[in-house]
Amino acid sequence: MDRMFPETGRDWDDLEREMVEASRDDLPWRSGRTHKAAFHASEDVIDLVEKAYTKFLGENALYTALFKSLEKFENELLGMTAEMLNGDAATAGITTAGGTESNLIAVKAARDYARTHRPQARAPEILCASTAHPSFNKAADIMGLTVVRVPHGADYRADVAAIAEAVTDNTVMIVGSAPCWSFGVIDPIPALAELAASHELWMHVDACVGGFISPWVRRIGYPVDDFDLGVAGVWSISADAHKYGYAAKNISTLSFRNAALRDLTRFHFEDWPSGAYATNTFLGSRTGGSIAACWAVMNYLGTTGYEKFAAISMGAVDRLKAGIAAIDGLALRGDPPVTLFAFGSDTYDIFAVAEAMERHGWIVNRGKAPPSIHLIINPVHAPLVDDYLADLAASVDEVRRGHNLAADARVSYAE
Ligand SMILES: *Cc1c(COP(=O)(O)O)cnc(C)c1O
Repeated sequence: MDRMFPETGRDWDDLEREMVEASRDDLPWRSGRTHKAAFHASEDVIDLVEKAYTKFLGENALYTALFKSLEKFENELLGMTAEMLNGDAATAGITTAGGTESNLIAVKAARDYARTHRPQARAPEILCASTAHPSFNKAADIMGLTVVRVPHGADYRADVAAIAEAVTDNTVMIVGSAPCWSFGVIDPIPALAELAASHELWMHVDACVGGFISPWVRRIGYPVDDFDLGVAGVWSISADAHKYGYAAKNISTLSFRNAALRDLTRFHFEDWPSGAYATNTFLGSRTGGSIAACWAVMNYLGTTGYEKFAAISMGAVDRLKAGIAAIDGLALRGDPPVTLFAFGSDTYDIFAVAEAMERHGWIVNRGKAPPSIHLIINPVHAPLVDDYLADLAASVDEVRRGHNLAADARVSYAE
């Protein structure tokens, strides 16, 4: 076997060259030609985030008591998030390493709540629409729960009546998405929260992708249905700062209606030679960099900065939706109110269209059921809307004229 570990160290120039070379075929996420992994507002935001991150890269957020800076950044960024999500003085939250961890911890809190408040739930179940994120199944897999996924309605939103039918003694939690990733539509959160309240169930809103965009979209005048802590009966809500917050990975927020619910996230252990060990997260050691960078970017942009970026993205969304509607045979999936959506066709093989778009130099996100092209719009996409629509019209035309044969039908989000 070839040795990988160099016996003598290599200098930075040598390493940098190899790193740049290694990244040559990476997804060009800053280019505006991809809609995956491209949460990108502007270059000055990235510069700021990079500076703030590296300043606190070595600080360990496991020890907030030792790093008052991180405690301050975390408290303040959670306070700003609570304001953004219509919380009040009682709102209490934690930061996590991402949407997946936020949802995992929401499930842990709901499970622990049910242990004392819902003894009839012998085999705890999470109830959600089929569009809920896979992290709820990951949570169930790790923590020994079951997820009951109820088919979404014709409008791609959660079917509240069908979910109501599915409530059993084992139900401990109802999850709604605001919005769901696949179609960008917001589940009827007030109705789901009312259902949860009527059974005294934990209501969690997965606003991982929408939490940092929907409030600003609404503030600039677009209609967005209620989805956040302003809805009575919502007990927890996850919102990823490393998506539309434009922070560096890894950071998400998980906000609770009050501190008592938040404290259910706590893991506490004493029986260890080094003494007490308590955390609110799945991770132990974690960098202070992502917390510092998140705090910095929220303060750098302020509410008007986020509104400005929301306006740029929504302007692009409006033009894209109109342009897609104008192409014969293409249709949006449902009525998505913010910056992500999917479209497909009853006339053409949409994956053949996707492949044609790839020949035009776009990196295309696909959806599986129903077959769709998925867009998640950021400010970086706005200057390319006309190019995108022109290439889309040309691609549909190519497919119509039979230029595309068997398109690959396999769809993958992440593997
Ligand atoms: C992105 C996303 C998640 C998970 O987020 P990660 O940051 O990838 O862990 C959860 N729910 C929804 C709706 C998302 O869009």
